[in-house]
Amino acid sequence: MRVDAKKLLYEAKIGNYAIPACNFIDSDSARAYCRVAEKEKKPLILSYAEKHQGIISLEEAAMIGNYFQEHSQAAIVLHLDHGEDKDFIKRAIELGFNSVMIDASSQSFEENVRLTKEIVDLAKSKGVQVEAELGHVGANELVDKTGSTGSIYTEAESVKRFVDLTQVDSLAVSIGTAHGLYKGTPKISFEALDKIRKVCSIPLVLHGGSSSGDDNLSRCAISGISKINIYTDFITAAFTSVQKDAEVNNWIDLKRTGQLAMENTLRHYYEVFHTKIYKE
Ligand SMILES: [Zn+2]
Repeated sequence: MRVDAKKLLYEAKIGNYAIPACNFIDSDSARAYCRVAEKEKKPLILSYAEKHQGIISLEEAAMIGNYFQEHSQAAIVLHLDHGEDKDFIKRAIELGFNSVMIDASSQSFEENVRLTKEIVDLAKSKGVQVEAELGHVGANELVDKTGSTGSIYTEAESVKRFVDLTQVDSLAVSIGTAHGLYKGTPKISFEALDKIRKVCSIPLVLHGGSSSGDDNLSRCAISGISKINIYTDFITAAFTSVQKDAEVNNWIDLKRTGQLAMENTLRHYYEVFHTKIYKE
């Protein structure tokens, strides 16, 4: 069922738990996530990233997302992850996404405010939830090339001003995670998170959740993070399980084995994030 993203995130914020935002790249992955959400009666943020247009178009993703929102018993939000292009975000809203992220985190503070405000104005009238990013969550794949993930920590001092100026609904913060696979376990600054939480009235989001360590993520979930993005762990689990399973010798079994691994991964993260059962 289609549920209001804003309401869902506030419930998580008040209840001290996080909701997994799972990136889908086809109907198999979307179905795997929805199946677990339905069985566990827990909320799910079904995410589609703008950068995955090469794998699946926005239109096809919208069709899949709308289908599961309509037909699944689980509480589902259809979310656009890392929207960078205004027209792309606009199209996503028209196609039924009820939550969008505008990522202008690599721009200056002023430009980030301006671009975020533009999307907020566009989305609010349609009842669509908007997430922005302040500070910048980098990428692990950059480490080999540049020696750094490119992350810039979110400064608590600027959070309140950003939220006041943009009226955004939720905020992705940079506190030590990065996108993709880590070498080792990242060091998350809970001190920074605590400072941000104290000045921020809206739900907070953690990007780069995959392989950040269960203890880290569990602590984030009870320390003010209401949405945690996971992608890499799902595709890694699916691929590894197919490689390991000697019984897999046809396409149908391969797909099923991969989906089962994704399902187990989500089940695991529901526990780690302390996600509560959805109540209407
Ligand atoms: Zn991200």
